[in-house]
Amino acid sequence: MLTIENYIGGEMVLPASGLYLDNIEPATGEVYSQIPDSDDRDVNLAADAARAAFPKWSKTSPEARFEILIRLVSFIERDLDELARAESIDNGKPLTLARAMDIPRAASNFRFYATAAMHTSNESHETVGQAINYTLRQPLGVVGCISPWNLPLYLFTWKIAPAIAAGCTVVAKPSEITPMTAYMLSKLCIEAGLPAGVLNIVHGLGPKVGAAIVGHRDIKAISFTGGTKTGEEIARTAAPMFKKMSLELGGKNPNIIFADCNYDEMLETTVRSSFANQGQICLCGSRIFVERPIYERFKNDLVSRAMELNIGDPLEDSTNIGAVVSRSHMEKIQSYIDLARTEGGKILCGGHRVSLDGRCSGGFFMEPTVIEGLPHDCRTNQEEIFGPVVSIMPFDTEEEVLGFANSVRYGLSATVWTENLSRAHRVSALLDSGIVWVNCWLLRDLRTPFGGVKDSGIGREGGFEALKFFTEEKNVCVKI
Ligand code: NAD
Repeated sequence: MLTIENYIGGEMVLPASGLYLDNIEPATGEVYSQIPDSDDRDVNLAADAARAAFPKWSKTSPEARFEILIRLVSFIERDLDELARAESIDNGKPLTLARAMDIPRAASNFRFYATAAMHTSNESHETVGQAINYTLRQPLGVVGCISPWNLPLYLFTWKIAPAIAAGCTVVAKPSEITPMTAYMLSKLCIEAGLPAGVLNIVHGLGPKVGAAIVGHRDIKAISFTGGTKTGEEIARTAAPMFKKMSLELGGKNPNIIFADCNYDEMLETTVRSSFANQGQICLCGSRIFVERPIYERFKNDLVSRAMELNIGDPLEDSTNIGAVVSRSHMEKIQSYIDLARTEGGKILCGGHRVSLDGRCSGGFFMEPTVIEGLPHDCRTNQEEIFGPVVSIMPFDTEEEVLGFANSVRYGLSATVWTENLSRAHRVSALLDSGIVWVNCWLLRDLRTPFGGVKDSGIGREGGFEALKFFTEEKNVCVKI
C-alpha cells in the first residue's frame, strides 16, 4: 500500500510522529493508502526550511521564477492522465471531470501566475514640486496555504502558484481527505528544480497541522479555503497575531431563473450547476428560484434530467455522478434530506444512497436529489449541504426573489438567467454575492477577483489580487 510522505526542505520525509492515517477511496469505501499524521514538529521543520529559502527565492527575478513554474506546468500536463486518475480515486469524482477540469486548471494556475509575475508594476505618485513617492511591493516571507477536498489540486495550486510567483516561500497543507495529488505535485516540484524549501507540504489533520500553520509565529499570512466554521477558528488565532488572511469559505448560492431566459441553455447549465462534482463545488447553485410562469415546466425537466444522470464507478467514462467524498459526508447529506422531509419538503427525485455492484459496492454514492415545497428561510434552504441536492422555489417578482436570494448568511456566487439586459445588470448589482454569473455558470477568467461576501469569507483571490495579498506595500517618499 502506498505511503504518502511530507515534502520539506526539498526532500520527501516521514512524519516526526511515525504515525499514519488511513486514506479511503470513496468509490469503494476501502483504505488504499496511508497519510502522514503530522504535527507541530513537522510544521516547525517546514517553516524553518521555508524561512531559510526565503532570502534567495525572494531575490530571484520574475523570469527565473517563470522558468521553474512553467517547467512544472509541462510536467503536470505530461502527467495529466496519471494525476486525473489519482484525483478521481482519491476524491470519488468522475475521471472525465478530473481530466477535463481539475488537472488542466492546476496547470493553468501555475501558468497564469508564472506569467503574471512578469507583468506586475508599481505605482508612483508625484507630490507636485515636493516629492516623488513610489510603491515597493515586497513578498511577505513565509506564508501558509490550506485547502479543502472538493477540488484538491485545483485549489491547492490556486494558492501556492501566486505565493511562489510573488516571491514568498510556502508551508502548505492539502486536505487530509484528498492528499494524493499534492503528494504527486511535490515529486514534480523536485523534478522541476524548485529550490529546496520554497514549497513545503505537510500532510495531516486540520486541528493538528492546519492549526500549527495558522499559529506559527514565522508564518506571515494564511490563505485558506474551506468551511466557514474552520474559517472562524483560523481567524480567532490569526487575527490577534495580525496575520494577513484570505478566507474563501462556504456558500449557499442562488440560481435565479426568469421566465424570459434562454430556456434550453439554462436547463443544460442548471443540471451542471446543481450536480457537477456531486454538488460538491462551492459555486454550485443549490437554491433554485424559478419565475412562476415556467416553474412547472422547469420542475418536470430538471427532475427528468436528474434521473437520467448515470451514477457509477468514477473511473468509467459513462459516469456522470461519482461518489461523494466520505462516509461521514454522505451521512451529513442524508441528514439534510431527512431534515427537508421533516420541514415539509417533497422529494421530487433522489433522496437515497445508491448501492452499486462489483468494485464499487461499498462506495459512497448518492442520488441527485430535487426538493420542492420549502420556504426560503427554513434550515434546508439556509445551511450549506454541499452535495447533489437542490431545492426549487417559485417566485413572482424581482424584488421578492432578491429578498429570498439575499436571506442567507453566505454570499459567494449567484447565477441569473434572463434575456432582459437591464434586469441582468440591476439584479447583479443588488445581489449579496462576490461573483454573479449571468446566463452562464463557472465560466472562469483567472484575471477576475474571486471570493465571497458575508460569511463566505474575506479577501479576493485571482488576478493581481492574489499577488497583492502575498506582498506588502511600502511607500518610499523621495524629496525632490
Ligand atoms: P474544512 O474547513 O473542513 O477543511 C479545509 C481545510 O482546513 C482542510 O485542509 C482541513 O484539514 C483544514 N482544517 C480543518 N480544521 C482546521 C483548523 N482548526 N485550523 C487550520 N486548518 C484546519 O473544509 P472541507 O470540508 O475540506 O471543504 C468543504 C468546504 O469548503 C465547504 O464549506 C465549501 O463551501 C468550502 N469551499 C469554499 C470554496 C471557496 O472558494 N469559497 C472553495 C471550495 C470549498
